[in-house]
Amino acid sequence: MRDLSAGPRVLLRRLRELMAEPLEPQERLDQIVRQIASNMVAEVCSVYVLRSDGVLELYATEGLNKDSVHLAQLKMGQGLVGTIAASAQPLNLSDAQAHPAFTYLPETGEEIYHSFLGVPILRTGRALGVLVVQNKASRTYRDDEIEALETTAMVLAEMVATGELKKLTKPGLELDLSRPVSIEGNGYNDGIGLGYVVLHEPRIVVTNLLNDDSELELKRLAEALGSLRISIDDMLSRREVSMEGEHRAVLEAYRMFAHDRGWVRKLEEAIRNGLTAEAAVERVQSETKARMLRMTDPYLRERMHDFDDLANRLLRQLTGYGANMTGSGFPTDAIIVARAMGAAELLDYPRENVRGLALEEGAVTSHVVIVARAMGIPVVGQASGLVALAENRDAIIIDGDDAKVHLRPLADLQRAYEEKVRFRARRQEQYRALRGIEPLTKDGQRIRMQMNAGLLVDLPQLNESGAEGIGLFRTELQFMIASTLPRAEEQEAFYRSVLKQAGGRPVTFRTLDIGGDKVVPYFRAAEEENPALGWRAIRLSLDRPGLLRTQLRALLKAAAGRELRVMLPMVTEVSELRAARELLQKEVQRQSKLGEQLPKTLKFGAMLEVPALLWQLEELMSEVDFVSVGSNDLFQFAMAVDRGNARVSDRFDVLGRPFLRILRDIARAGERHQTSVTLCGEMASKPLSAMALIGVGFRALSMSAAAVGPVKAMLLALDAGKLCAEMTEALDDVKSTVPMREILKDFAVSNGVPV
Ligand code: PEP
Ligand code: MG
Repeated sequence: MRDLSAGPRVLLRRLRELMAEPLEPQERLDQIVRQIASNMVAEVCSVYVLRSDGVLELYATEGLNKDSVHLAQLKMGQGLVGTIAASAQPLNLSDAQAHPAFTYLPETGEEIYHSFLGVPILRTGRALGVLVVQNKASRTYRDDEIEALETTAMVLAEMVATGELKKLTKPGLELDLSRPVSIEGNGYNDGIGLGYVVLHEPRIVVTNLLNDDSELELKRLAEALGSLRISIDDMLSRREVSMEGEHRAVLEAYRMFAHDRGWVRKLEEAIRNGLTAEAAVERVQSETKARMLRMTDPYLRERMHDFDDLANRLLRQLTGYGANMTGSGFPTDAIIVARAMGAAELLDYPRENVRGLALEEGAVTSHVVIVARAMGIPVVGQASGLVALAENRDAIIIDGDDAKVHLRPLADLQRAYEEKVRFRARRQEQYRALRGIEPLTKDGQRIRMQMNAGLLVDLPQLNESGAEGIGLFRTELQFMIASTLPRAEEQEAFYRSVLKQAGGRPVTFRTLDIGGDKVVPYFRAAEEENPALGWRAIRLSLDRPGLLRTQLRALLKAAAGRELRVMLPMVTEVSELRAARELLQKEVQRQSKLGEQLPKTLKFGAMLEVPALLWQLEELMSEVDFVSVGSNDLFQFAMAVDRGNARVSDRFDVLGRPFLRILRDIARAGERHQTSVTLCGEMASKPLSAMALIGVGFRALSMSAAAVGPVKAMLLALDAGKLCAEMTEALDDVKSTVPMREILKDFAVSNGVPV
């Protein structure tokens, strides 16, 4: 019987020799097509390469008119070649002219060839070009011939990707691989980052494509698959993988794929045709990816992603390639590009070099996004298709303001963004100059300006921004990014280092605010129909006193000898505060019984974010040392709009009359009771709404670190007395139909207040 794989093997061996010879790129291509034609007993063999303008250009041919090289061209989707590139699928035709997509190119002289076999030249699922063989006689190519041509196409993909063919391009008609691409996503953190792509899961570059000994490669593959399966079983048996849930489901899917006979058979077949084990994995992965990119069903796409991740793991097993490229090769202005990633993984990158984060998935509330925001880097999520299009070290711009990612930007765009960045930097410089200036309004009102934080990466911002302290420390973030419940000692060490870095400045620790949209993976509660109104924050803490007491103990120990400020989230009734205070007292007594040093002073406060508290203001103010308004939640509950639902979250204005009147009542109650009242929701971070807050009587605000400069610039130019008078009139005017936002904007403009 004829050994069907002998043909491809001989061809691949010959191609390997050709790749190693010191030839000019055109000469190498010419020889490659000649070899393929002769090996496959074809009269024609041609290579078309995709240009950045979406045109497939004939780069080399054996059999067609040589003068048509670099002249003959077809658009993506046009003709047989364009159809192959657009669908990323082979075409095998015994009578090419009869195919509806056939387009006659007179310059090539191809009309005499009837049979046609074309395969896409693929790299990470993208078609970079098309490889074609043709014969005069009408025949159908066998499966093994298609397979052989697809394998050969990998060699060409490598030539395109390594940049060798760039030398053959005409100016302005670069290869598709360097095409500029702009992708629209969702902006998850403002700002602009210019830099170079760092793929979080770097594409493993397989340079050793062709094998010397198929049996040996099959053995390598079997071994790698074996260890891959063991490592998945291992992960599944680890304790931190809870018995149910997403994570486990993904691993179960991995296990199923790792045992998938169809997949393994395809890999083995590619090896028998002459590829190394890693090249076989890359090839099958590329085909899967090409299918994935065309899929619309989100469930199937997700499953294909799992396959892709699995192939990456297998490639790492085979090549011993490390997980990421931290270290000396790391660019000084890196933009991390990933499909999705864990929060802790982002923290592993050298912070000072990371200029932005672009994700194919992600959500405003995903942990990695929370961490990126704390790091102050721009983030764009839901940038679909980005990972497949990007190569390590490609130039990239990420625009968190406009929710766009520009890959390989053209020079004009690059310049425009550089100008934008310079402008921002100048403004930042102006804000920095305000750091040491006391936050007094023009008429001498002292405004306390603090910042919000939740992770250690936030803390350098205290000095940077000139904030007077931390008005809201969201302790749940440490819990959200950890894979297991942080132990008491870990919590204590964490709080201790927060206080140390804050120097003598006050830090207000909010006790755990988990539940609702703040998901802690190892703390699974039952599904809730309305999680925002469910078992969360202080409700959960009072039902699980062990958790709260552990945290309070850690805080007491960490703040020994200095001031400790503790604040409770989502208080609905004053009785909850009393119950929590009792727990705190118990912990204080315990500490003193043990002879441990206690904090010098203890301040106890409540978040005001549930409307029911508005009718308990008198009791509340006499019960606590301070109140902090959580305007994000208070607005959500007062107006009945889900803060995470983009369809309704902007429907009503935080600067509308109802909400401003609520806030004014709170500020007045604070004044009556001489209780310190501050506000720590997003409202405080925008100069216009911060101005409105001062207008209704707030004298203390806690905001994102980046907002301290702009808000200070606003208040230094503000006559608070004049604003208060105008706002009182406008808020009390029940006949007015002029939106408060307009009134406030007009005030700012006519009084020269920068908002
Ligand atoms: C708020 O609700 O305004 C607030 C500051 O808390 P969080 O955003 O953490 O819910
Ligand atoms: Mg809240």
